[in-house]
Amino acid sequence: RVLFVGDGGAGKTSLIKHLLGQDFNPNESQTKGININDWEIVDIKHCEIGDEKIKTHLWDFGGQEVMHATHQFFLSKRSLYILVLDGRKDEKTEYWLKYIESFGGESPILIVLNKIDQNPSFELNRKFLTEKYKNIQGFKRLSCSKGEGIAEFKLAFQQALTKIEIRQMDWPITWFKIKTALEQMSDHYIDYNKFITICQTNNVTEKSAQNVLVEYLNNLGIILHFTDFRLKNTHVLEPKWVTQAVYKIINARQVTDQQGILHFNDLENILKQESTEDYYYPSDQHPYIIDLMKKFELCYELEDNQVLIPDLLPVEEPDFDFAPDLQFRIDYNFLPRSIMPRFIVNMHHDIKDQLRWRTGVVLQDQEFAATAVIKSDDDDRRIFISVNGKQRRDYFAVILKTLIKIHNSFEVDKLGIDERVCLPDNSNVTVNLQHLYKLEHIGQNEYFPEGADKAYSVQELLGTVGIKDKEILRYVKEIHANNQETNTEKTTDTILLQPNIFGIGFNLNSLFKWFLQFHRQKNDKK
Ligand code: GDP
Ligand code: MG
Repeated sequence: RVLFVGDGGAGKTSLIKHLLGQDFNPNESQTKGININDWEIVDIKHCEIGDEKIKTHLWDFGGQEVMHATHQFFLSKRSLYILVLDGRKDEKTEYWLKYIESFGGESPILIVLNKIDQNPSFELNRKFLTEKYKNIQGFKRLSCSKGEGIAEFKLAFQQALTKIEIRQMDWPITWFKIKTALEQMSDHYIDYNKFITICQTNNVTEKSAQNVLVEYLNNLGIILHFTDFRLKNTHVLEPKWVTQAVYKIINARQVTDQQGILHFNDLENILKQESTEDYYYPSDQHPYIIDLMKKFELCYELEDNQVLIPDLLPVEEPDFDFAPDLQFRIDYNFLPRSIMPRFIVNMHHDIKDQLRWRTGVVLQDQEFAATAVIKSDDDDRRIFISVNGKQRRDYFAVILKTLIKIHNSFEVDKLGIDERVCLPDNSNVTVNLQHLYKLEHIGQNEYFPEGADKAYSVQELLGTVGIKDKEILRYVKEIHANNQETNTEKTTDTILLQPNIFGIGFNLNSLFKWFLQFHRQKNDKK
């Protein structure tokens, strides 16, 4: 699986067309959603044996900002990433490198400096970038319009392919047979049992082997499979089948006009076949697509057969009154745009008076008698949390926990998270939360924060955000630790809380609230 990323207009589609031997189009239209093309190239790893070919699946990602959140579900590990930059513009090179690393893990990255015909002086600090981002395999300057540098790019492409971890392994012959069997099927999707039957027919009977195989097939681009997405037990064999549907919905006029609300009645129309290249989506598959989008945290259900897609909410923040008692800030080295929409999806039960916009939300909890405002500042890479009300600290713990859960679906160390407590009388000055824990641990009582006018008591600062009850504090810390440990497995939810253990869909937040209530009652009795 080879993923082409970069700003819209950088030349991803033009470069792919070159590889496929198609003509350059000076008026190439904007890519909608994702295009996937297969391309065969000589495998230089085995070229001494003959001209063995390797089949690559080229994923061309559309550039619209609103799609970045959706794209992330199709980014995989053990793939090759091609970052295409436009030599004419001041590029967000590091934004993209962080984006790739936070989803692609150790995948190799090849950087293309395109349009050198128009901007011959375009260069990057290659040494600096290579030292900072270890997965960069090389830089290629080229021009898609003039065809310059394409041959060198192909060579670098072939070399980078050998660096993909998955290609360095020897595959059991049985796995190969399964892969071939799946590739030859004409279905767009199969159910889990069918996959297991194919595995068993080919003597792969161990559950663990089957799971690893599924993930590898996903990374190779043969199938699309979502970890812990057991819903309807579907394995998608034709990635385009699902991507096309999701992008049609995200880009639908009906949904944008309704400020992000999708009526199920409109699905028939939105998903209809417009050309022969379009897939057909029978109405009995519509719920699957919607369930998938819910699972992606792209949308949540409203009443009356509607869902809301927070990515398409109005941009402008509405007016409301709010006086915070507790303020907290999270600084990011890389703030994925999907965090806020996903947070809104996770907390949608608590949204107050429909106060939600594209980068923020107002929440209210009756049991805690608390209100909260959560906003992201994408350019400064920060999320602000302010809470007021009786049990603001408990509510804050719920909010923080939800964010931590979202963070852990990324390569969390690549996000560079810095949790900061705002001083109670000066919210412009903040103190790192972990540092406060350390001070508390070594028994230091006073702390003079940089930028403040006086010293503060460590206990008082920790007290502003909570979490007086040691048990709860430890619990939150444990979630932190657990999440970090299980991060690579990406199964945090299942491991932590087994949401479906009783066959009922538990809301994780209600469980956590219950936990807090329980501890408070226990303390009250004491
Ligand atoms: P994408 O959004 O990244 O897929 O970019 P496209 O491939 O659609 O290219 C955007 C625009 O830049 C199109 O009008 C292309 O014709 C043009 N373009 C692409 N590569 C080059 C290049 O090397 N030189 C010049 N001058 N224009 C290019
Ligand atoms: Mg394009």
